[in-house]
Amino acid sequence: MIRLLLTKFKNILLLLLIGAMVFSTTIQAHSQSEFIKISIVEEQTIETTMIQHRECDVVIRVGEYQGKAGKRIYVNNTTVNLPDDIPVRNDGDGKGFYVSEWDINLKEAKAIVSKLQEQGINAKLQVAYSKSEDLNAAARIANKSNPYLYVSIHHNSYESNSSGYFSMYNPHCQSSKIVADRLSNAIQYNGQVPKMANRENTGYIGELNNIHSTTVPVLLELGFFSNISELENICSDSYVDYVSTQLANELTNIVNENYK
Ligand SMILES: [Zn+2]
Repeated sequence: MIRLLLTKFKNILLLLLIGAMVFSTTIQAHSQSEFIKISIVEEQTIETTMIQHRECDVVIRVGEYQGKAGKRIYVNNTTVNLPDDIPVRNDGDGKGFYVSEWDINLKEAKAIVSKLQEQGINAKLQVAYSKSEDLNAAARIANKSNPYLYVSIHHNSYESNSSGYFSMYNPHCQSSKIVADRLSNAIQYNGQVPKMANRENTGYIGELNNIHSTTVPVLLELGFFSNISELENICSDSYVDYVSTQLANELTNIVNENYK
């Protein structure tokens, strides 16, 4: 009898232990929508200050800004196969036709936001139209909305045969890595762009490191536009539809599991 009880007890202990492990890997963040700072000053008067209101659940940022010179790939406008909503631009400077990273980021980010909104998530699109809103300023702008999650959408440029996608996370925020892994896993079966190892954002991209601690930040690099065949894939309606659906579903899960 005692042995039986002990076996039962062991099982309960094991269940409790597993429960504690599961619980400890959930996302830690401040779920309060408002913070009240109370300070006692002279003569026992109490001053209350509203610190910040949460304006939305998720901010999806369009990486880079419109027309950013360094973030483009020159293409043969007669052979490149792109949908109508990805402009092939020409500055008339003799360098030829190009596709801008910002336009690809915009298409993907808009699709994610509209799918999040369809699922009842209060999502906001953050777009930069000038250099003054790039990188470091991006965090300052997002912090005004104080979302639970900040996801910055980018595409990558390196060699003409580079291929793959990955997420970047802030190594000082444990939840940032958890969300980065979940989003990366959510799109691994896209069939076109291979998954790469996620990376720490070690400080050179201010938009992640300057986000307030009340928001979990992640940056996604969703494929290489410097590779023409990958450029055609990442701009295609089918890739954008698949990736935006998977990302919106996983973001919805993360919001509902941790903050609602
Ligand atoms: Zn970028």
